[in-house]
Amino acid sequence: MKVRKKAKDKKPKMNEEWLTKAFRTVNCHFFDNEVPGTTIVKFKKDCGHRLANGEYKRADAYYDHERETIFLDDMLAYFPDMATIALAHEMSHAHLRFKGYTGWPVDCGHGTIFQLEIGRLWKAGFYDGLLTLLLALPILGAISQWAMC
Ligand SMILES: [Zn+2]
Repeated sequence: MKVRKKAKDKKPKMNEEWLTKAFRTVNCHFFDNEVPGTTIVKFKKDCGHRLANGEYKRADAYYDHERETIFLDDMLAYFPDMATIALAHEMSHAHLRFKGYTGWPVDCGHGTIFQLEIGRLWKAGFYDGLLTLLLALPILGAISQWAMC
């Protein structure tokens, strides 16, 4: 909680209008607009979701296929580069799901095809200029865990 307050005091916060624009931009440049435009993107406080066994799983971001919605933890609203990386990760899930790939459930859909999708983004230059921020994360200490599903 202390870290959460600190980040709020110092950083400008992105909003859902920004997130929607980021979605459209990433979809256009890196997914050939193949992620359904009906996909909703939202920031969510204490982001997470219930697993099939009822257990609550905390996640910095996740794609809810049933609701066709990508959720990002609201803390990411203070870190636009990280939010963009998380958004592209979840867009990859949406993109592959739309094509019929669900992946191995125990691995949250991060199977080989998913890894190839991330590799495709890498080769297309999506991460250029974004990953240097991740190196600074331990210094910032703003996000205690980096988990996406
Ligand atoms: Zn994932």
